[in-house]
Amino acid sequence: MEIIRSVHRMQEAAARFRAAGERIAFVPTMGCLHEGHLSLMRWARRHADRLVVSIFVNPTQFGPKEDYRRYPRPFREDRRLCQGAGVDVLFHPSVRAMYRADHSVWVVEEALSQGLCGAHRPGHFRGVTTVVTKLLHAVQPDLAVFGQKDAQQAAIMRRMVLDLNMPVRIVVRPIVREPDGLAMSSRNRYLAPEERVQAVCLRRALETAERMVKGQGIRQTRRLRAAMRRVISRYPLARLEYIELVDAESLKPVKTVKSPVLAALAVRIGATRLIDNTVLKSGA
Ligand code: AMP
Repeated sequence: MEIIRSVHRMQEAAARFRAAGERIAFVPTMGCLHEGHLSLMRWARRHADRLVVSIFVNPTQFGPKEDYRRYPRPFREDRRLCQGAGVDVLFHPSVRAMYRADHSVWVVEEALSQGLCGAHRPGHFRGVTTVVTKLLHAVQPDLAVFGQKDAQQAAIMRRMVLDLNMPVRIVVRPIVREPDGLAMSSRNRYLAPEERVQAVCLRRALETAERMVKGQGIRQTRRLRAAMRRVISRYPLARLEYIELVDAESLKPVKTVKSPVLAALAVRIGATRLIDNTVLKSGA
């Protein structure tokens, strides 16, 4: 496995692969890798000749009061996991390698970024669309693989490559969970033992909505949201940030579950902010 730290050298490697007629799959991450990331890598490995993974904790997608500085960066362990997953190139640039000191160009998506996490993390998706654009220019992949864990991000990525005519296919893979249902996340390691126990509340709330739609045929999102809210309120360490039920494609709020609806929520457990989601489909 080759480790590359400069954009220029990454572009040279990509050009070599492409000249040899090889298809490149790309998995962008912020490191602190877990089974969720590895599931994306395994899929990518099977669907391309070359697998490039990036590890870059992107400062521009964190708010001033967020966890950029303390975000975990266990690079040795991450490198070992990448090696085991058959990664060809681990792209691990520094902040200075990615952003010139006078950087002033941004990529902004103006519709899908407004609600859900976008409403609570101003500037977050501007940071994501900008860094992913820069990473795609460095890696020049045929496929870029994202997780449904960050459903809003995935929808924005699909829209971005369409609207900007980027020659890359966006692939979105399912959420990988712990045995008790908690969605795997690098941030789970912030949780103290009792917080970890109560962190299942996100999945429990989503399961409640799934049962109501599937088992009882309830379609009104108002009722689903109220029931989810009640589940969260049973967990004393949980502070709800939002529960939204939106059209899975446009991310616009909907009143009833007809076409697929994304049920998404963000909850703070102590100081840790967690997100999760599910797609609800009417039985019809
Ligand atoms: P991150 O390192 O958190 O930026 O995540 C990198 C990629 O891994 C993103 O596309 C995430 O959606 C995806 N990812 C993170 N957690 C999971 C999970 N539990 N299951 C599937 N994909 C995930």
